[in-house]
Amino acid sequence: MYDLHTHSTNSDGKYSVDDMCRAALEKGLRGIALTDHADMYVFEERDTLNKMTQAGIDLRAAKEAYRGKLQVFFGVELGEYLMAPDKAEQILTLNDYDVVLYSEHFVPAAKWDKSYNRIVCDESVSDEDIRDYMKLYFDLLNNTVTAFDYDVLAHISCPARYITGRQKRATNVMLYEKTITEILKKIIDRDIALEWNTCGKYCESFGYYDAQNEEIFQLYRALGGSKVTLGSDAHNVGGIGRGFAETKAQLKAMGFDNYYYYENRKAVAVKL
Ligand SMILES: [Zn+2]
Ligand SMILES: [Zn+2]
Repeated sequence: MYDLHTHSTNSDGKYSVDDMCRAALEKGLRGIALTDHADMYVFEERDTLNKMTQAGIDLRAAKEAYRGKLQVFFGVELGEYLMAPDKAEQILTLNDYDVVLYSEHFVPAAKWDKSYNRIVCDESVSDEDIRDYMKLYFDLLNNTVTAFDYDVLAHISCPARYITGRQKRATNVMLYEKTITEILKKIIDRDIALEWNTCGKYCESFGYYDAQNEEIFQLYRALGGSKVTLGSDAHNVGGIGRGFAETKAQLKAMGFDNYYYYENRKAVAVKL
């Protein structure tokens, strides 16, 4: 198993790079990517430049320490590129990454000034507000998806994980099928992989809601997409590789042959 999306204390994870690697080895994984956040909407607040510099030091040490036992990949989860392209490029050229993930956690045009994991959907939030928010989110993704050089589009339906999985308000990601289709066509064209994020379906804190991964991956496959990565989005050692055996079986049943890991920004296929 290769887990291509995890976090350490170099962003908002609870464990060090070494703790995460040791846990991955104990769980029998073949490889793990540490993909700490570089979110443009909290770039200074999270001391991102120093954290990513430290990540470089930690990852070089971990690659050495686990050589021959576990493949350790150095990644970054780059968020909100268009908010600060200069800062984003500074992070992208700071280190030699194995894999670059692209995400959106914050929608500047929306009426909330918080990232979607911090929005409280109480009675002041109407169903229409939620639909508007999801539309703005997918429009933003569509506008950014070809804006820079990265390898994997991460958790494409992530706001639904919070709004429905955590806050129990209805979303239907497939209402935005037209925009999602445009996004998927663009990543297929550019040979960018699509991440199956297992954090929803296998997490109690997200109500075991999978944010319609299956529908999105059906669409991706129908459009000719084949490059899939698996990401647990683990922020602690317990989450590493969660649900991967089931997800691999699910992908295989859907007609996918391989999933991928990235080393030195090159995709490597692994049979499902
Ligand atoms: Zn994320
Ligand atoms: Zn993440």
